[in-house]
Amino acid sequence: MGQRTEFDFEHFLKQVRDLVAGPLLDAEADIEMQDRVPDDLTEVMAELGLFGLTLPIGYGGLGLSAQQSALVMEQIGRVHSAVRGLLAASNGIVGKTIERHGTEAQRRSYLPGLAAGTIRSALAATEPQAGSDLTLMETEARRVEFGYELSGRKYLVTNGDRADVLVVLAQTDRVAGRRGLSAFLVDAASEAVTVEVVQPSMAPGGYHLAELRFSRCLVSAGSILGQPGQGLDVLRSGLVWGRLLLAAGAVGMSTRLVEEAARHAASRVQGGKPIGLHQTVANMLADMAIETASVRHLVRHTGLVMDREFSGRDGDNGRDRVDGNSGVKSVVEAPSGAVASSIAKVAASEAACRVADSALQVCGGRAYLAGHPVERMYREARLLRLAEGTSEMHRLSLGRALMAHSEGITPFVDGL
Ligand SMILES: Cc1cc2nc3c(=O)[nH]c(=O)nc-3n(C[C@H](O)[C@H](O)[C@H](O)COP(=O)(O)OP(=O)(O)OC[C@H]3O[C@@H](n4cnc5c(N)ncnc54)[C@H](O)[C@@H]3O)c2cc1C
Repeated sequence: MGQRTEFDFEHFLKQVRDLVAGPLLDAEADIEMQDRVPDDLTEVMAELGLFGLTLPIGYGGLGLSAQQSALVMEQIGRVHSAVRGLLAASNGIVGKTIERHGTEAQRRSYLPGLAAGTIRSALAATEPQAGSDLTLMETEARRVEFGYELSGRKYLVTNGDRADVLVVLAQTDRVAGRRGLSAFLVDAASEAVTVEVVQPSMAPGGYHLAELRFSRCLVSAGSILGQPGQGLDVLRSGLVWGRLLLAAGAVGMSTRLVEEAARHAASRVQGGKPIGLHQTVANMLADMAIETASVRHLVRHTGLVMDREFSGRDGDNGRDRVDGNSGVKSVVEAPSGAVASSIAKVAASEAACRVADSALQVCGGRAYLAGHPVERMYREARLLRLAEGTSEMHRLSLGRALMAHSEGITPFVDGL
């Protein structure tokens, strides 16, 4: 938890680029086959500080701005998405939630380990009957003498079988609707927590989608994050960051897909010339590049919006920055950090899906075969439209946010 005296962000970003272009790229096939990120690479990432990009320096993190964190995650997004999956919880939904809503004791217990990569974490919110509408969840936290007793079942938990600490959303008041949900920090090693199944899925290797069961799992009163009944709001504070980092990862993925497709289009000769010189293929490449460039700028700007709102600083310390929003109150022209990260998440994940589809078309049948990077990224991109709130739920929330100014409507709906 020492003080950072000097930190050269450009140098750090170069170190990340080198790690991505070298060891992480080389390990992609291994990660897919072994269904895990190799330990030696995880250690290198931890030493570099990648688990604690967004976390405060005082708790062992790098204390990067949102804009800087997004630049790093854009690089990470270029390689196998299990790497991004490994870094997502500590930098977003778990780490930032604890930073924002944890007590000092909770911050001291968890943040240094999360930042160092020695404490692994996961979010357990989704249940078979409660996805977009979390108020339907059945997992219950019953008040008992020394704390709470959790009972219920969660599924689709990324890294659920290898987390040390879980953020679990549970009902504390069945009749209070969205105000009846609370968030808890739960020790995954408890005997009352069992990993039921690690599900086979479309997800790339290394995701470890698990089902978890809580059987009268006793947690202390000090395990609650925030106040009882604030569970959804508590989670959203981490999700704002999670969505930015997911969007940044999607930009990195789209960039790599454009490069893979362009490389193939330049070398594959059909009809007497490289396929990229056929106008229809050139159009696909150009549209992929245009779409990727658009979301790259959107995501970088979103980091700036978040930095201004959450910490009052500019991501790259630009003193003379002009964004033209002085005095603007419109949600469209000057969105809040939460709205901006929601827009970026939808735009970048949907762009990645379209770019992956075109990349597969340009690369042809070989890219449909297992082991081809485009085949894997096609599956990876598809997940991004579901995770951290589906595109439809984000649109619903955005629609409400747009109307809220005039109608006084609650901007967010009850899901993630
Ligand atoms: C690979 C992967 C990893 C995941 N990791 C985690 C994790 O770590 N932790 C965790 O808790 N969860 C995780 N999830 C779960 C994910 O958050 C949910 O899949 C997501 O929230 C959607 O819930 P659902 O699958 O139940 O779909 P549903 O909510 O049943 O939705 C099905 C469809 O209906 C649409 N829909 C639903 N309600 C509305 C509405 N009101 N208006 C308009 N459209 C609507 C949805 O957008 C979707 O298109 C993961 C999912 C996947 C696939």
